[in-house]
Amino acid sequence: AENTLADIVSHAKEYGFVFPSSEIYDGLAAVYDYGPNGVELKNNLKQLWWKAMTQLNQNVVGIDAAIFMHPLTWKASGHIDGFSDPMIDNLDSKKRYRADVLIEEAVVQLEKRKVELENARENGAIPVKGMPWDNQGEIHDIEGKIKYAIDSLTIGTPFDLQNAMRELEIGEPGTGSTRWTDVRQFNLMFSTQVGAVAGDSSQIYLRPETAQGIFVNFLNVQKSARQKVPFGIAQIGKAFRNEIVARQFIFRMREFEQMEMQFFVRPGTEGEWYKTWKETRRRWHEALGLPAAKLRFHDHDKLAHYAKAAVDIEYEFPFGFKEMEGIHSRGDFDLTQHQTLSRKKQNYFDNDVNPETGKPYGNYVPYVVETSVGADRLFLATLCQAFQEETIVEGEGEEQKTKTRKLLRLHPAVAPVKAAIFPLVKKDGLPEKAHEIYNSLRHDFRLVVEEKDSIGTRYTRQDLIGTPFCIAVDHQTLEDETVTVRHRDSREQTRMPIAELRAYIGEAVSF
Ligand code: ATP
Repeated sequence: AENTLADIVSHAKEYGFVFPSSEIYDGLAAVYDYGPNGVELKNNLKQLWWKAMTQLNQNVVGIDAAIFMHPLTWKASGHIDGFSDPMIDNLDSKKRYRADVLIEEAVVQLEKRKVELENARENGAIPVKGMPWDNQGEIHDIEGKIKYAIDSLTIGTPFDLQNAMRELEIGEPGTGSTRWTDVRQFNLMFSTQVGAVAGDSSQIYLRPETAQGIFVNFLNVQKSARQKVPFGIAQIGKAFRNEIVARQFIFRMREFEQMEMQFFVRPGTEGEWYKTWKETRRRWHEALGLPAAKLRFHDHDKLAHYAKAAVDIEYEFPFGFKEMEGIHSRGDFDLTQHQTLSRKKQNYFDNDVNPETGKPYGNYVPYVVETSVGADRLFLATLCQAFQEETIVEGEGEEQKTKTRKLLRLHPAVAPVKAAIFPLVKKDGLPEKAHEIYNSLRHDFRLVVEEKDSIGTRYTRQDLIGTPFCIAVDHQTLEDETVTVRHRDSREQTRMPIAELRAYIGEAVSF
């Protein structure tokens, strides 16, 4: 059976991956804390992204910009004027009726579409199950929307109806929902005051995206890192959005983390770079263990004000295919906006020779291709993908029994613990030997020593947090310096010299 989001949420809490924020006060909506295993997994994902950007590409360098930025930044980026969602304050019975009707109409359309898709499957119009063009994902997606819409009608607060309308894409700003007079635009940025005097002049925002910290530093970085176009700037950091629709666990949070890379290119070459980064990013997700059949590209039909082309890399979460990463061709929108508002030139002088004119390309404002992935959404996709339940057969003949095993099949490179060391018994010098092995490897890998409980229980515990190797220390170890290494996925065991562990684990956890 497929795991539901509820299974993932409870597993994440029980095994120290993700906790609701301030849980003892009943939590804070759409804010979460990462626990001991969660922070390791998330750090590993972030490090691998950072490496894929800045270590594997000489022409991509990193920065770490502040969360607070000059307020004009957000004027330039369009966030002050455009970054808002329609919000319904209250509904009288007539408007309430209107909302119900719109949502019900949408449900009817979705149900029709679902039947069409199911018929297509039955008639063989969708040829191979489980392949990227299989339509099961879309059917799930529709089922999720229908359920959500019906729930919202049942609960029926203006807030729920508002959320459902957004989810069903009814009433974008300026269309459907503005038929209501009580709709007001709600800016998604969090604001606060700097200094002692409250007032408009001292209002600043918590950044709603990390990208602008990169744009305003474009020339600082280009000059100090002596980069030539094309080059990129990468950044990992927190972003804040006062999301109205805050649900689906860490998928949509009010405080989250982004990993963004803005790639500055010569105008006219952006199409090629867009294609290149789109493919590079998809391959990266696959290499980390997200299967091709659960990833798809979704081209935007409606483009944001800054974009020339935009595509999402979607992953099939338990609640359907949803955006995990966005690749955007942003043209020179951001740099020219900052140039206008700051009155500082954002030009680059390109002294490469244009073969058509025989002269240098000269001065221009570079175009930008951006890749932007949410660390938390990537984390959620990784967890959803890794969390598996399988039936295993143990013993032989009469003794044979089947049982189910839950485990996290995480790529060893991202697993919170790389190996757990188990002394078989708590005596005869075995615990001491286990600690000796731990000490010899702890500078290279994150390890744990577990002495309590039966060996089977200890294996189970490590399976549940995705530890790829368990190392058993037994009496033979004391005689010949060998240990048994048990593999998480196959449950196979290999005897090997202690001296080989470093190379063996190192090979498996490299990426
Ligand atoms: P959505 O349409 O889901 O609101 P978006 O298109 O606004 O997302 P972008 O502004 O393109 O998202 O941000 C880039 C990435 O940042 C997204 O692909 C996502 O992974 C992540 N992200 C955006 N908003 C949130 C959020 N509220 N919680 C967690 N991650 C987010």
